[in-house]
Amino acid sequence: MNRLSRIFQPITVVPKNANSTNKDFISRSQRLMLELGIIHQAVPGCFHYLPLGMKALSKLINLVDEEMQSIGGQKIIFPTLVKSELWEKSDRSNDMGPELITLKDRHNQNYILGPTHEETATNFLSTLAPMSYKKFPLLLYQITSKYRDEMKPRFGLIRSREFLMKDMYSFDVNENSALKMYENICVGYDRVFNRIGVEYCKVKGSSGTMGGNLSHEYHYPADVGDDKILNCHKCNYATNTQLLEEHVCPNCGEIKNVTVQNSIEVGHTFFFGDKYSKPLKAHYVDENNKPCVFQMGSYGIGISRILAASLECLSTEQELRWPDSIAPYNVVIIPPKRGSKEANQMDHLEVALYKNLENYLPNLKNNILLDDRTSLSIGRRFLDCKRTGIRFIVVLNKRSCENPAIYELNDIVKQEQLHLNENELVQYLKNNGKDLERINKTA
Ligand SMILES: [Zn+2]
Repeated sequence: MNRLSRIFQPITVVPKNANSTNKDFISRSQRLMLELGIIHQAVPGCFHYLPLGMKALSKLINLVDEEMQSIGGQKIIFPTLVKSELWEKSDRSNDMGPELITLKDRHNQNYILGPTHEETATNFLSTLAPMSYKKFPLLLYQITSKYRDEMKPRFGLIRSREFLMKDMYSFDVNENSALKMYENICVGYDRVFNRIGVEYCKVKGSSGTMGGNLSHEYHYPADVGDDKILNCHKCNYATNTQLLEEHVCPNCGEIKNVTVQNSIEVGHTFFFGDKYSKPLKAHYVDENNKPCVFQMGSYGIGISRILAASLECLSTEQELRWPDSIAPYNVVIIPPKRGSKEANQMDHLEVALYKNLENYLPNLKNNILLDDRTSLSIGRRFLDCKRTGIRFIVVLNKRSCENPAIYELNDIVKQEQLHLNENELVQYLKNNGKDLERINKTA
């Protein structure tokens, strides 16, 4: 049984910004995640993930694993230490420059802490004996910590120096097959973002330091985002404004009927052909036994960034709101205060309810919490749970002593309070937690 009193959740107070032009401006998700013990800053841009944050993170990782594997991705781990000479061969060390974290080992060998692993993945294939074209396409991915020495780490997990990223690499034997692969991965990405459930925008990308031929970006609209997305309401085209000189739709030329919105990039797909396979000499052998270079793509999802960005999109100034799909807990049961008349009459009804909900709603297994801090009033515990972002709050009060027992259900997202018997409560959670269905395939 998940008991709130056992969960390590250090509550702190983060001083409010004097004003939004303050250069140390703190975003809403950052402040709430720090205050409510979801994360804790270790050094600027690096964070401890605490138990509630970890639980949300595991759900997100499971969800991404399922979708990547359903499109044929195979999970691996590349080492974080990458030989600097690989990045010199691909000519990227200059592009990234001071953002690369570099170090030397005791043998005076230069390394970087990988911010992304195109070179590593390509070099890996090049060190194998060239494999037959029949073995491809191949799709490898990992979910590991990446490093970027940000000049200004900001907004907690949104722009940090150490972050968790899902990075995936595709190897195809010709462009046709590579483009099919690209399409298929975009379908998988759409499924990931639909399942997370935060409204997103998919745009044609600017390739930045990746170079390359074809790319798409996935964005969450948010004021604190560093990107700007142009939406054309005439032809429904959307693009990153980095590509544009003015705010004119590049698809249909519309000027008036366009909006530009700040956003946070949370996913990215690239097709870049032989950009890495050529300099790093990654080959397969074709049907005539001739060595040929791979057509490649890379595909990122900002795992830790999504955690924060989804909270940035959904939360209020005072309270966290999680997408149902990754909320650490979906339901909390609050029994009466210890020693009250109701508590004495109830005889651990909350434990029976907890078990029944788990039985009738297997999707909720391990997603229900019992707020057993019964030295505190119901009101105080209610506010704590609401602030932490638990969507369904079930309160046991005087009416729960009736036969049959009546429970007070608060749906924080719908801002509804209902008085239901156990069957009705089960039914409500079944109908309204539609995302619970989808989560719990993964939880
Ligand atoms: Zn247009």
